[in-house]
Amino acid sequence: MSLILHGKVREVHDVGGDRLIILTSDRISAYDAILPTPIPGKGQILTGLSAHWFSRTRDIVPNHMLATSLAELPPPWNGPEFAGRVMLVRRLEMLPVECVVRGYLAGSGWRDYQEHGSVGGHHLPRKLALAERLPQPLFTPAHKATDGHDENITLGQSAELIGLEITQELERISISLYERAAAECLASGIILADTKFEIGRDESGTLVLADEVVTPDSSRFWPAADYAVGANPPSFDKQYVRDWLDASGWDHTPPAPALPEDVVDGTRNRYREAYRQITGREINNWIQENQ
Ligand code: ATP
Ligand code: MG
Repeated sequence: MSLILHGKVREVHDVGGDRLIILTSDRISAYDAILPTPIPGKGQILTGLSAHWFSRTRDIVPNHMLATSLAELPPPWNGPEFAGRVMLVRRLEMLPVECVVRGYLAGSGWRDYQEHGSVGGHHLPRKLALAERLPQPLFTPAHKATDGHDENITLGQSAELIGLEITQELERISISLYERAAAECLASGIILADTKFEIGRDESGTLVLADEVVTPDSSRFWPAADYAVGANPPSFDKQYVRDWLDASGWDHTPPAPALPEDVVDGTRNRYREAYRQITGREINNWIQENQ
C-alpha cells in the first residue's frame, strides 16, 4: 500500500502530492528496542503535544504540519480510530543529523562531561554537578544512522555530513526552539532539560521542522518542584521506563521484557501529566476536537 516507513513508534504513509500521513502508535522504544507492551493513548499525547509546539514556533521556523482533524484527512485516515494520532504533513528530505539541545547536564551529556570535561566538544566550567543548568544551552548533534542507532557527533563531523552553513543554521534554529519551549515549560512547572529536533528540506531547499517536537519521547522533562542539583530528578518522560528496565537486569539485547501493569499506568500518567501541564488542557479535549 502506501507505507513508506515503519519506524519504532510511527508509520509514515505516502498520500500523493508530496504529502505524507504520520500515524503515531502507542508503541514505546527504549535503548533502541521496541518494548512488547504498548502505552495506551501515548500516540495521541505525542501528536497533541507536537501540534501544540508546531503552532507555537512558526515564527522561528516553518514546520511540516498541514492538518490533524479527521475532517481534513484523506480516507482511510479519517476513520474514528485515528482521531488525535494522525497528522497530514509535507514530505521533506530529512537531514541525517538529529538536532539535540541540552540545557542541563544529564544522560549522555553528563557521561561525556565526567569523561572529558566537555559536552559534544563544547568546553565547560569545572565542577558542574549532575543535573546542573549549563551556562548556556548547547547544540550537540547526533548522526541518524540508517540502522536506527544514533551516535553523538561533533559540529565538525556534522559539517562534513551536511555542510558547515547548514550545521550553523540548524544550531541557530534549534537553540531558538529550545529557548522558546524551555521558557514555556518552566512557566508550567516543567524543566526542559534537553530535547531533540528533526529538520528536513523542502523542494526549494528551505529548512522545515518535522517529526515530533518537545514530547516526553524526544525530551527530558523534570518537575521543577522536585529539582535539585546533584541528583537525577524524577521525570515525566521515558526515563521512568528506562529506570525500570535497568532495575529488571535486561542487557538491552532484544527482545525487551514486557512491562508490568503498574509501570504501564505510571508511564501513561506521566505522559498525560506532561500534556496537561504544558498545554493547560486534557488530552481528551485534543482527541475530541480532532474527530
Ligand atoms: P525512534 O524515534 O524510536 O528512534 P525512528 O526515528 O526510527 O524511531 P519513528 O519516529 O517511529 O522512527 O518514525 C518517524 C520517521 O519519519 C523518522 O525517520 C523521521 O525522520 C521521519 N519523518 C518525520 N517527519 C517527516 C517528513 N515531514 N518527511 C519525511 N520524513 C519524516
Ligand atoms: Mg523518531
